[in-house]
Amino acid sequence: MASNPGGVDELNAAALVAGLRTYFRSGTTAELSWRRQQLRQLRRMLAENEPRFLQVLRQDLHKAPQEGFMTEVSALYGDIDHALKHLKKWARLRRASTPIVAQPAKSYVQPEPLGVVLIIGAWNYPLQLLLSPLVPAIAAGNCAVLKPSELAPATSALVAELLPRYLDRDAFTCVEGAVPETTALLEQRWDHILYTGGGRVGKIVMAAAARHLTPVTLELGGKSPCIVADDANMEIAARRIAWGKFTNAGQTCIAPDYLLCTERTAERLLPAIEQATREMFGDDPQRSADYGRIVNRAHAERLAGFLADGDVIFGGQVDVEERYVAPTLMRNVSVEAAVMQEEIFGPILPVVVLDDFSKVEEFVNGREKPLALYVFTEDDSTADRVLSRCSSGNACINDCMMFMTAHDLPFGGVGSSGMGAYHGEHGFRTFSHFKAVMKRRSILDLDLRYAPFNARKFKL
Ligand code: NAD
Repeated sequence: MASNPGGVDELNAAALVAGLRTYFRSGTTAELSWRRQQLRQLRRMLAENEPRFLQVLRQDLHKAPQEGFMTEVSALYGDIDHALKHLKKWARLRRASTPIVAQPAKSYVQPEPLGVVLIIGAWNYPLQLLLSPLVPAIAAGNCAVLKPSELAPATSALVAELLPRYLDRDAFTCVEGAVPETTALLEQRWDHILYTGGGRVGKIVMAAAARHLTPVTLELGGKSPCIVADDANMEIAARRIAWGKFTNAGQTCIAPDYLLCTERTAERLLPAIEQATREMFGDDPQRSADYGRIVNRAHAERLAGFLADGDVIFGGQVDVEERYVAPTLMRNVSVEAAVMQEEIFGPILPVVVLDDFSKVEEFVNGREKPLALYVFTEDDSTADRVLSRCSSGNACINDCMMFMTAHDLPFGGVGSSGMGAYHGEHGFRTFSHFKAVMKRRSILDLDLRYAPFNARKFKL
């Protein structure tokens, strides 16, 4: 299957899905040897073209090659290697007990692939967020269509070029495009849709899926709080927060969105964050080779608009032409202001100062459930209390974002930050159906359950 160089006019989405479904029904994709081979091919695609992938990530988002490698390419190697290592175990039959009324029999759970799945990616990690869900989709034995984000055009074009050269063309297709192409794809009946992006489009995806009773995984966003207690190690916290917030110029779905702390903490923490940021990107981050750019002009302008919502402590420079927004820390922001109402998704970190640390849970719980929650404290009971009282998709104690590195942790949102999860075996489960099977034999057929239910069988 080829992608659609001619755009939506050349995209016959119905024929595309029908072709993939026919191939799926041939049973080829169910073979573990085929799945392994496709995973190895995906790895080869990345390894043989690594410099090109790092180059398109720089083109789309000015990612430093080291950052592109760390957060996108090497994360994918990890996903693939983990899937190859555990595939046999994930795909095995799971024995279950059989009750006495059903004896003699064997009961087991048999994982089976769902069929033809759609994966819609976002632009901020345009490679990783597209291919990371593909790994479990392959491991579980599915055919898939990938729809990369049109806002990262260089990465989208490279995936569309290389995918058919490495993977089985009868099973995988990359469809490039924007709203018209995505709309055409969403009209089709899929066996699963995994969508990464904002909640507004998430609702469109879910409504389209509902027409066909298609299950969805929605990897959305939200305002992820970063809570710093008075007893935190301020130096370490500042470094990790600056890294979590300013990597990829803040365009990370799990970046800390805002800081929550007391005045006593703010006095020590904010200068330490400024210092940590200078150490990473120098006095003028615009000239740093390691600092990213905002994906497009419109988003740079949107971020510039937030700067009027409070006092800028450091940063605040914007160069829309260059899509540059400096790492910025803000104070005295009203909780009613846009910067505290909308997901920031950029390198601006507002600080909300509470008069008493005990109010953090109330503050967090007064808002939508976030995708991530961070709490910095040296006291386990403080961390336990915050985590047990506040719901979030994922959480990290004394760091930001690092849960992403653990293959055995499910990655997903809750409430308005999403539904369903993937990564490691959780991804395999997302793209599989776990079929309950009972295997009986034709011996010993007690007539107790068959009518007529006379007094000989039952006395109520
Ligand atoms: P988006 O919702 O604008 O776009 C995502 C995809 O949807 C794109 O492929 C796009 O072509 C398609 N799309 C856009 N408008 C559409 C429409 N009207 N109909 C059908 N399809 C349409 O999201 P975005 O701006 O790319 O990403 C930003 C958001 O994504 C943030 O909220 C962020 O937190 C979230 N995000 C979440 C994760 C996660 O893993 N949970 C990762 C990255 C980003």
